[in-house]
Amino acid sequence: MDLNIKINNNGHLDIGGADTCDLVEQFGTPVYVIDENRIRDNYNRFYNAFSKYYSDFKVFYACKANTNIAVLKILEEERCCIDAVSPGEVYISKKLGFSGDRILFSGNNIRNDEIEFVNGEDVILNIDSVSALKRLAESIKPNGKKISFRVNPMVGAGHHGHCITGGEMSKFGIMETEAVEIYKLAKELGFNPVGMHSHIGSGILNPEPFKLAIESTMNIAGKVHLEAGIDFEFIDFGGGVGIPYTPDENLVDLDTFAKENMALFKAKLEEFDMGQPTLYLEPGRFIVGDSSVLLVTVNSVKESYRKFIGVDAGFNTLLRPAMYDSYHHIVVANKMNEEATQKVDVAGNVCESGDLFARDRPLPDIEEGDILAILNAGAYGFTMASNYNSHPLPAEILVKDGEAFVIRKAQTFDDIFEKQSIPKHLE
Ligand SMILES: *Cc1c(COP(=O)(O)O)cnc(C)c1O
Repeated sequence: MDLNIKINNNGHLDIGGADTCDLVEQFGTPVYVIDENRIRDNYNRFYNAFSKYYSDFKVFYACKANTNIAVLKILEEERCCIDAVSPGEVYISKKLGFSGDRILFSGNNIRNDEIEFVNGEDVILNIDSVSALKRLAESIKPNGKKISFRVNPMVGAGHHGHCITGGEMSKFGIMETEAVEIYKLAKELGFNPVGMHSHIGSGILNPEPFKLAIESTMNIAGKVHLEAGIDFEFIDFGGGVGIPYTPDENLVDLDTFAKENMALFKAKLEEFDMGQPTLYLEPGRFIVGDSSVLLVTVNSVKESYRKFIGVDAGFNTLLRPAMYDSYHHIVVANKMNEEATQKVDVAGNVCESGDLFARDRPLPDIEEGDILAILNAGAYGFTMASNYNSHPLPAEILVKDGEAFVIRKAQTFDDIFEKQSIPKHLE
């Protein structure tokens, strides 16, 4: 089993050298806990795996997975770059010290004022449509600005239909058939188009779909190189490398993954005589996914038509099970050495029957007051949380070598309603 689970001498779940039960005593539940060293390890494993086979390589962390500013700061220290998908992500990355050339902005359906804002921040702009290119040319002075285009390589993959971002049904990218023209148009408009980008989906555990995407993207890039005279400074194959969520899934064999994909990449560069552009990859989930757990307290055990274990968080806190039908492994943090004795449904505290973290999950005997840890909560966990049902957002705790730091305080009720106001006639 490749899940990131450590048990300490008390039979409790350990994270980053801290006892999760102690953390709960100190900080309450629900609470997200993040292991700093795991993020550093994941980043370095990823960087080393690919740079071994292609040295001119940069990692652009897809920060929509987790934008806690402490997490971003850790990756800034590691000299990682940022893949930003919104002006807000550009704003915070700049503020934390990432220079513009370390931020790639892949906007989607953005307004003119947003284009102007990100352009003013001097980040690399990755354009997604002819319409966006034309609007960009109208709202800023092209002045030889370096840009890239996101192409649709007509290959899609991912753990759920919502996460497949290539292929005929995808809203992302420009079509292969329009690629040459759009690069020519960009030059005519006064831009310097130097990059090509693709991102096929999320949660990919084997190299095959990636190879197809690399092949397809490189064929498009080769054609653009030959027919539009573009010398690429960088090629970006996006993110999507998965992590094991279930006990029978395995860690991606990164060495094989990198070796096979880089061999293909290099062969294609040679085939089209494209020199040695910098390779960008944009892992999100891989860097932060298994660094974190969501700790919750059992507050009811209900024998109804089924057996329900009720906890003090819901899909407002961790959306993935409800949104994507995702499996998150769950352990009883204070009873790590006990065997499963029953199959139960783990239900949240949101007023909707779809609010379940697990169905028919084998777990040990559970009583009220037990602490459950929902694993792999570091990617698309907090960043997708909401105030639905007027529950405050939980705290986030960073652990490093056993020491715990509050990196986000839990919201209060007032925080939830702070931006609202009552018009005069209702006072
Ligand atoms: C979401 C996203 C990623 C990261 O996907 P992961 O599956 O978390 O690695 C990378 N690039 C782009 C453009 C994205 O939208």
